[in-house]
Amino acid sequence: MSYDDLSGRTAVVTGAASGIGEAVAVRLAAEGARVALLARRADRLETVVAKIRAAGGAALAVAADVTDDASVQGAADAVHEAFGTVDLVVNNAGVMLPHPVDDGRLDEWQRMIDTNVTGVLRVLRAFTGDLVAAAAQGRTADLVNVSSIGAHLVFPTYAVYGATKAAVTQLSQALRAEFGPRDVRVTNVEPGLTETELADHIGSAEGRAQVDGMLAEMGSLAAADLADLVGYVTSRPRHVNLSQVVVLPTRQA
Ligand code: NDP
Repeated sequence: MSYDDLSGRTAVVTGAASGIGEAVAVRLAAEGARVALLARRADRLETVVAKIRAAGGAALAVAADVTDDASVQGAADAVHEAFGTVDLVVNNAGVMLPHPVDDGRLDEWQRMIDTNVTGVLRVLRAFTGDLVAAAAQGRTADLVNVSSIGAHLVFPTYAVYGATKAAVTQLSQALRAEFGPRDVRVTNVEPGLTETELADHIGSAEGRAQVDGMLAEMGSLAAADLADLVGYVTSRPRHVNLSQVVVLPTRQA
């Protein structure tokens, strides 16, 4: 099968300050795309952008909080001003805050829902017009949503996180029905355990120990493995849509 490199593409990657989003941004830029990197930590974004530019790529840091409507819209305006119409959106920003349901941590449940679900919707709303317009002009257009294997597998204390990711997976399938007929591809990626900063935000020692135990037992993917996958998916010929991709460490059954 032929391979389209990404030169001429214009990408937005959310959650690009670390982990999977950072690796995806670096990879897409290395393949020739212009990449706008969104996350809250401006300093971290600037570091990644400097790395991309030093390697000859084109990148823009845009500090943005996906839980804030105005912030996302402001980011979209900044991206449009710098790069014009976007044709590749990677909805990757997310948080994972496991708690026993009995603890009733409505605050952290809300934070996960607002970041992992409503955040995805805010970004979608900001760039839907771009994707549809790019496809109508004959360009390749991609929406990549980073869900999780947690959308299907159940883990104690991960009920709400899993529910947010199940929502993303369901959303991706529904979006294909709306976007596919207009030549916008939608890909839902469900990673398994991946070595990133995600678990650093777990507040409890038990929660952290649970993740460390899983890492010791089954190893993990690297963020670069996910970047490799997103690079592959988005570089297929325009008529080929990998709609659902599950990627796990080999030892994660
Ligand atoms: P990281 O914590 O390393 O990355 C998360 C990114 O999201 C950071 O860049 C963070 O930057 C950004 N982010 C968090 N909250 C917001 C916000 N409100 N607005 C904008 N950006 C935000 O973890 P991962 O790379 O692992 O996570 C990326 C995605 O992968 C997540 O959706 C996660 O659920 C998913 N995933 C991860 C797995 C894993 O094992 N690591 C497995 C399955 C799925 P900043 O704090 O600067 O805003």
